[in-house]
Amino acid sequence: MGKIRILADDTKNKIAAGEVVERPASIVKELIENSIDAGATEIEVTVTGGGNGTVHVIDNGQGLDKEDLGLAFDRYATSKITSAEDLQRISTLGFRGEALASIASVAKVKAVSIANGREGGHEIVITDGRLSEPVPASIEKGTSITVSDLFFSVPARRKFLKSPRVEFRHVIQTVRRFVLAYPNLAFRLISDGKEILNLQPDTLEARIGSVFDPTYMENILSVAYDKEPYGLRGFVGNLNLVRKRRGEQFLIMNGRYIVDRLMSSAVYSAYQSLISRGEFPFFVLNITVPPEQVDVNVHPVKSEVRFRDEWRVYHVVKSAVTEALTDILQTIPDFSMPERPIAPEKTGQQRDLKLPRFDVSTKPAARAGGVERAKEYVRSFAARESEHEALDLELIWQVHNKYIVSEIRSGIVIIDQHVAHERVLFEQALTAIESSPMPSQTLLFPEVVELPPDDYSVLMDLFLYLEKIGFRMKEFGENAVLVEGVPPDMGWGNEKHIIKDLIDDYQARGKNYASYQEGIAASFACHAAIKAGDRLTKEEMQTLVDRLFATKHPYYCPHGRPIIVNLTLDELDRRFERS
Ligand code: ADP
Ligand code: MG
Repeated sequence: MGKIRILADDTKNKIAAGEVVERPASIVKELIENSIDAGATEIEVTVTGGGNGTVHVIDNGQGLDKEDLGLAFDRYATSKITSAEDLQRISTLGFRGEALASIASVAKVKAVSIANGREGGHEIVITDGRLSEPVPASIEKGTSITVSDLFFSVPARRKFLKSPRVEFRHVIQTVRRFVLAYPNLAFRLISDGKEILNLQPDTLEARIGSVFDPTYMENILSVAYDKEPYGLRGFVGNLNLVRKRRGEQFLIMNGRYIVDRLMSSAVYSAYQSLISRGEFPFFVLNITVPPEQVDVNVHPVKSEVRFRDEWRVYHVVKSAVTEALTDILQTIPDFSMPERPIAPEKTGQQRDLKLPRFDVSTKPAARAGGVERAKEYVRSFAARESEHEALDLELIWQVHNKYIVSEIRSGIVIIDQHVAHERVLFEQALTAIESSPMPSQTLLFPEVVELPPDDYSVLMDLFLYLEKIGFRMKEFGENAVLVEGVPPDMGWGNEKHIIKDLIDDYQARGKNYASYQEGIAASFACHAAIKAGDRLTKEEMQTLVDRLFATKHPYYCPHGRPIIVNLTLDELDRRFERS
């Protein structure tokens, strides 16, 4: 006899329940979703013991008749889709038909409902997965579902329930998401006999005020974007609402609260240097996406979705939020802007230069520090007693278009121009990725970069980081991007190669770095840096040396190669057998 057997329905439901019902708040979520799908305009949630006791949801939606009431608790019983094609355009919150069956397999459920237009309602009770016969019951409108004895039949899971206080926190969080996603609906939340929320239909702005605190209304900026078929509505917080913890961030896609890394990063990137790592802005954003442009059937609780066109979504969110933030972005001094912006009319001449301009974009403070550090460094291998030792930048030469040589009091320093520039770019890129994104220099002639599909998808992964470093790119047909801007320190004309090199590197050795971010910064630095063979003017050499000493580690490149070799007079004398 074989070992494989088909599991009984009850066992199947319990397995499914493991995914859908994690805790009382999951039940609250599924029941509210059903009420909204049923067209309810008033939803009342009552819990006892934080939901560990009972969860009771009443709505005034279209209700269920006797027959449907019995069917609703079957697995894959749904009124919302009829065929697989319907999965392409889900417009309801539910569609898998498994929530009620799952809940009923791990708890005791009583459901009372009356279908719109019918005379009387019915009630059924499900205990241990078994349905009672529907009996007439009195109810005026809608549906009332009471869930109790959660996990009574699965003691192992009952043990994982937290204290009522903790479970209630999850319930509130869940309710809050709906309250913000549906300001047009009335909600009540009652916990152990105490009314926690009682909200009438209102504007989202007013909702935010009642859910958080009325002062929020003075600190939020409206977001509005429409470009058929996409739309974005909602609010983002100003800097008063920036928190050290995530939590007050709500993304709602077609009425569904979702967690989406890409959309969140689009919001973060719009804040630019206003916020740094570890700081979390407030936002409630509703995005409208054509249902066929998004797959919501990727996760049993449906909080993660897959956009068909992630780039589009990213740009919609970023541009809409940027616009909302325009005023505050303008009021802060932007240290990260180039000191001398590159004038577009100079571009023709600029393009021929192999060499990037070094004079842009170091924070003034860092520049000053750089000179100081350069002096300090030189002093350290100069005769210590000398007070006046400094790297005399007049005495600087390039040899073999590869090394920068300079005389100092104690001897000669030799700097490898490629690794020196690599170090500068590496630290700059890392800072840009981790805290304050770099501005971008606009290309007069945007470049189209076409990629094979798999490389294109790697570029997606890298996209957010590259944008922070200063690349500005737009989708451009299938598997291609239009590069409109490049990092301020990068030579023009080779953006195509750099992007391709970054993709290759990322695939080949990105994983060898301590962090993802470091890997990307190192790879960018390596490919964007001036090369051996690039001719430098005296001024460029000076700026490079200056900026090198403004870095945290001027002695070694990100790959560990030395940047500076110091030949002391003593050593030279010894070599020439002078001493
Ligand atoms: P789904 O929501 O994925 O369809 P559920 O198990 O959550 O699956 O619900 C099954 C069916 O029961 C729904 O499709 C709907 O027809 C009906 N239903 C559930 N809750 C309600 C409600 N509150 N009001 C009216 N109908 C409901
Ligand atoms: Mg449902």
